[in-house]
Amino acid sequence: MTSLNDPRTLFPKVNPPNQLQEHPGLDVEMTPTADIGLETYKGNDRLKGRKALITGGDSGIGAAVAIAYAREGADVAISYLPEEEPDAERVIKAIEDAGQQALALPGDLQELAQCEKIVEETVKAFGGLDILVNNASRQIWFESLAELPDEEFDATMKSNVYSAFRVTKAALPHLEPGSAIIFTSSVESYQPSPPVMHYSMTKAAMNNLSKGLAQELTPKGIRVNAVAPGPIWTPLQPSHGQPEETLTNFDDMAPLGRAGQPVELAGAYVFLASDEASYVMGETLAVTGGMITP
Ligand code: NAD
Ligand code: MG
Repeated sequence: MTSLNDPRTLFPKVNPPNQLQEHPGLDVEMTPTADIGLETYKGNDRLKGRKALITGGDSGIGAAVAIAYAREGADVAISYLPEEEPDAERVIKAIEDAGQQALALPGDLQELAQCEKIVEETVKAFGGLDILVNNASRQIWFESLAELPDEEFDATMKSNVYSAFRVTKAALPHLEPGSAIIFTSSVESYQPSPPVMHYSMTKAAMNNLSKGLAQELTPKGIRVNAVAPGPIWTPLQPSHGQPEETLTNFDDMAPLGRAGQPVELAGAYVFLASDEASYVMGETLAVTGGMITP
């Protein structure tokens, strides 16, 4: 009997029917719902005793990372927008069910004060912070650059770039040697799609900031890396993240022939946070279903 799993069929195709949610969208209202590892992710003490803060940890990739980190033995704080409470509650419960401390941090990261507050509250609740995952992002598509409102450009920069800078800056005084920072970039940083080119800019910024900061922090024993996901089935997609024809053909983007599930990202984030990555700095790990990155 073979123990091999064919990655083409290890997870089913999403085959999403056309659907639309208001931004930021909910995992629990997607058809089909995404696999964030609730039933499947098994931990192995790889992050025992660690204290993690994950922005956008309520749903999608951030939720899968939060659940994996908890099952690997970390206390986990998740930040999210107030309207995402139903998704956040599910993740908080999963963290607690894993026997770890959970912290829910609703609020808009477009605000500097909120960026600082989530760090302070995490440190206060857990007695420190040693894993920061800058994962929150806004992605709303437009027909053309000319139709992209200045306010949307601003909200995207604030939610994605400013928040990552501000949360990281607030976290730095608390990070001891052995800590890890991980940015969520995207295959979009190398292959920008015109309808979301403003979003793609922010993902390129994550990649670049990660490599810049890695050079500053490596001599201090703090590792900085990024993960570049390919097309992953998360609430960001059906809440104005993609035009209808891209959404309904979502499985066709990756050479593997299907979209990815959030839980398929968990291993990359666990690896980069853990001591297994003790010699890995300034790397962007592509998890793209075969979409090629430089
Ligand atoms: P998601 O919608 O589940 O997660 C994004 C989260 O960002 C939201 O849950 C929300 O809590 C948070 N967020 C957005 N704006 C915010 C704000 N102003 N304040 C506070 N929180 C805010 O979708 P996801 O796809 O899991 O996204 C996670 C990360 O993965 C993002 O950085 C995204 O750019 C990246 N990514 C996703 C894909 C994909 O195909 N889904 C591909 C490449 C990269
Ligand atoms: Mg969400």
